[in-house]
Amino acid sequence: MINVKHLQKSFGNNTVLRDISATVEKGEVVVIIGPSGSGKTTFLRCLNVLETPDGGSIRIGEEEVQFSQKITKRDIARLRTQTGMVFQHHNLFPHFTALENVMEGLITVQKQNREEARRKAESYLHKVGLADKMNLYPFQLSGGQQQRVGIARALALEPKVMLFDEPTSALDPELVQEVLKVMRELAQEGMTMVVVTHEMKFARHIASRVIFMDGGVIVEEGAPADVLETPQEERTKRFLSLIQ
Ligand code: ATP
Repeated sequence: MINVKHLQKSFGNNTVLRDISATVEKGEVVVIIGPSGSGKTTFLRCLNVLETPDGGSIRIGEEEVQFSQKITKRDIARLRTQTGMVFQHHNLFPHFTALENVMEGLITVQKQNREEARRKAESYLHKVGLADKMNLYPFQLSGGQQQRVGIARALALEPKVMLFDEPTSALDPELVQEVLKVMRELAQEGMTMVVVTHEMKFARHIASRVIFMDGGVIVEEGAPADVLETPQEERTKRFLSLIQ
């Protein structure tokens, strides 16, 4: 489903991704862990082309873009339509209700008519457990509910892959579980997911594979039990001993 080859990204002199190659199969849930600044967010943002890589290639579904060549807006658009992204902060429009937030992309990006968009938005809000909150504004929702609107908004565009960037790390502890529950259900339905998270329980129980990144490289990857319980690399061991 995803095939990344030799991905490179620098910000000025700061090389953040150094020759990253990775694949994600259809239906896999890949959890990326690693210390702050290791490049996890930058990697996800490159998959969604919110950052433009300096080199390498990304294929998602049928769409492939080579970043060593000059890329066009059309290249970015065709790769971006393959993924839905959920951020640490939900970025909902404050002056739109939950329903209008989910409808927005359907109308402006996918050019659906209002009725069609409304029906689809309602069904995705239902899916994330917000059937009774559709007409509330973001400020009337808890952080966990806002994140679930963000998930519904991304899902409604029917991407091939869902990308999650620390979706629970800005939430109060009691709200984390309701977001993880929605993510767990998505995983069980077979959604292909790439998740940056510090939630080790989610990684242990839901991930098909865990990738440990440090210093802009993939240091180690494998089944959760292998990477989290019996890591082979010193850097992985050190990181896990600090967080567990
Ligand atoms: P965290 O767990 O703290 O979110 P991370 O592993 O996700 O960290 P990134 O956010 O990808 O790491 O950042 C990697 C490096 O890239 C950091 O040194 C950061 O300062 C730098 N960086 C990220 N985005 C930008 C940007 N837009 N401009 C300049 N430098 C950036």
